[in-house]
Amino acid sequence: MFEALSGKLNGVFDRLRRRGALSESDVAEASREVRIALLEADVALPVVKDIVAKVRERAVGQEVLRSVSPAQQVIKIVNDCLVEALGGGPREDGAAEHVPGLSLNAPSPVPILMIGLQGSGKTTTSGKIALRLRTRERKKVLLASLDVHRPAAQLQLETLAKQAGVASLPIIQGQSPLEIAQRAMQVARGELYDVVILDTAGRLSIDEALMEEVAQVKAATRPHESLLVVDAMTGQDAVQTARAFNERVGITGIVMTRIDGDARGGAALSMRAVTGAPIKLLGAGEKLEALEDFHPDRIAGRILG
Ligand code: GDP
Repeated sequence: MFEALSGKLNGVFDRLRRRGALSESDVAEASREVRIALLEADVALPVVKDIVAKVRERAVGQEVLRSVSPAQQVIKIVNDCLVEALGGGPREDGAAEHVPGLSLNAPSPVPILMIGLQGSGKTTTSGKIALRLRTRERKKVLLASLDVHRPAAQLQLETLAKQAGVASLPIIQGQSPLEIAQRAMQVARGELYDVVILDTAGRLSIDEALMEEVAQVKAATRPHESLLVVDAMTGQDAVQTARAFNERVGITGIVMTRIDGDARGGAALSMRAVTGAPIKLLGAGEKLEALEDFHPDRIAGRILG
């Protein structure tokens, strides 16, 4: 792992073998390579700066260990900083932080609100989560599409619900997103569902009407989880999207989709830094089974390449 950065750092540290500790200037040179590697992985600049500063702080003055090369030593520090920034760092009590999965610890029916731009993979992810909750946690799940703007969206969710083996809210034409959400909660209470997944409409870009609609639905249903779905391939744009949704609506977690593509995953780091919300799940393909838990160390590995 980390061959590219490793090779560059080996170059930086070649002449260091005779010395005892990592000096300020050695680390400065190494930091430059780390900075480039993070930028190439699509990590947002302010986040890159924070990470590099942290790496520097930890590396300067460290005794060079006999057992590993200085390059490996710095890489270990970079990796630790990335894992911590992704939410997997050590907790204050010394235990490793448990990367949180979905939180369903609330009275049934538990509402989960799915938020995101059109094409981010929101509807597919709703189906994936439904399938996982049904098969792994034996939950009775209701899926409801609040997308009244795209006529095909409600049918798409109905089809996905069938594939996932869960129910979908019967479609009634002419209802507003808020009315659909309220009806979904009513049905879920009456028919004793454990979880209701509310798939909101997306737009091609962030606009006030979309934000207002999502905010209204959120206020009315008080979701236990508000999950922002973002496409890993959109890189820096994903960060703007996350910031906007978090500021306007508030999110409890992020699902990053298309991790099966060749995106380096830097967006995960930036989104986590900008919103403070944990990445909870990863979408790794079009199939309903392609949903993975988030492991900070794996994404850190991907970012360093
Ligand atoms: P929405 O507009 O946000 O609801 O997006 P959709 O759920 O309709 O997804 C848009 C397209 O992306 C569909 O063709 C999905 O099959 C595809 N898609 C969704 N998630 C993933 C993923 O994790 N990996 C890949 N490769 N494709 C995905």
